[in-house]
Amino acid sequence: MELKDIGEFGLIKRLTKNITLYKERVIVGVGDDVAVVKTEAEKYLLLTCDILIEGTHFTKETITPYQLGKKVVAINVSDIAAKGGIPKQALISIGLPKDTKVVYVDEIYGGIKEQSKKFNIDIVGGNTALSKDKIFIDLFLVGEIKPDLLLLRSGAKPDDKILVTGNLGDSSAGLKIIENQDLKLEDIKFEKKYKTKLKQAHLSPNPRLLESRIIAKSNFANSMMDISDGLSSDLAKICEASNVGAIIWEEKIPVSKETLAFAKSIGKSPFNFALHGGEDYELLFTIPKENVEIIIKKIQRETKTKVTEIGEIKDRKFGIKIVKTNGEMTPLNTYGWNHFKT
Ligand SMILES: [Mg+2]
Repeated sequence: MELKDIGEFGLIKRLTKNITLYKERVIVGVGDDVAVVKTEAEKYLLLTCDILIEGTHFTKETITPYQLGKKVVAINVSDIAAKGGIPKQALISIGLPKDTKVVYVDEIYGGIKEQSKKFNIDIVGGNTALSKDKIFIDLFLVGEIKPDLLLLRSGAKPDDKILVTGNLGDSSAGLKIIENQDLKLEDIKFEKKYKTKLKQAHLSPNPRLLESRIIAKSNFANSMMDISDGLSSDLAKICEASNVGAIIWEEKIPVSKETLAFAKSIGKSPFNFALHGGEDYELLFTIPKENVEIIIKKIQRETKTKVTEIGEIKDRKFGIKIVKTNGEMTPLNTYGWNHFKT
């Protein structure tokens, strides 16, 4: 048996099966966006780490070192935001081949520092090491949250409405453009105006920290996570953690005019990007229906970010289904990102 036979999630299940937690301080261990730990102080600690590896997540040709530095901070901030928390301190481990230009590393750190300043994060340590031929950067981020504001994947309840921030699919559409520089895009207007925006969505994701704080402080939501592997597979994670099912309506999924135009120009459905493309770093959350309008308006007013209701939580037996634009209801297959399998 090889890793590709069990995939990323099969591997995680296997590796974490016999982990015993001896400390009653661990509120949440493996299986959510972050780990949650009780402290002597009134707040919980939130712990998360995420890595970017050359050849898997990026190539030197497609992202600048400055963007790379910003991105490694952003994807970790997104996991803290996914719980409603506030990022605080970071440790950075970086592996570098010895022929790496010093200025390249300077620029990675330029991006890391810029983004840390933006999100008020202190860089307090890390590790540098020789890597034979690939660059990797792993960021370990500590955050905090008041216990009563914490939102987990496991709190969704039947009849909750399912909401998302922003648009879905821009990042994976952008990646498709980046990976296929000679792609024939018939619409010349698309070429000029939209290409940059989609590429930007992939190269410089913007974690929804402000929005997540509004959601957490409202005390309306029952569950939340960030969409990093794609809506179809991330919704399945909320359903599994909460032991519920869900229904979503394809026509309600928010897709930008840029992704619509791009999908059309290559003869694909925009929902391929919106449902199964990863790295949007938008928030996916569930909330009782009486609070839907209030939260949508509050977030729109305070951050200008659009929030869209896309479906409803059902009981477990119902499974996870999607109503297509043609009215047909089918099980929602998950084709999101899965390391070793994808
Ligand atoms: Mg996450």
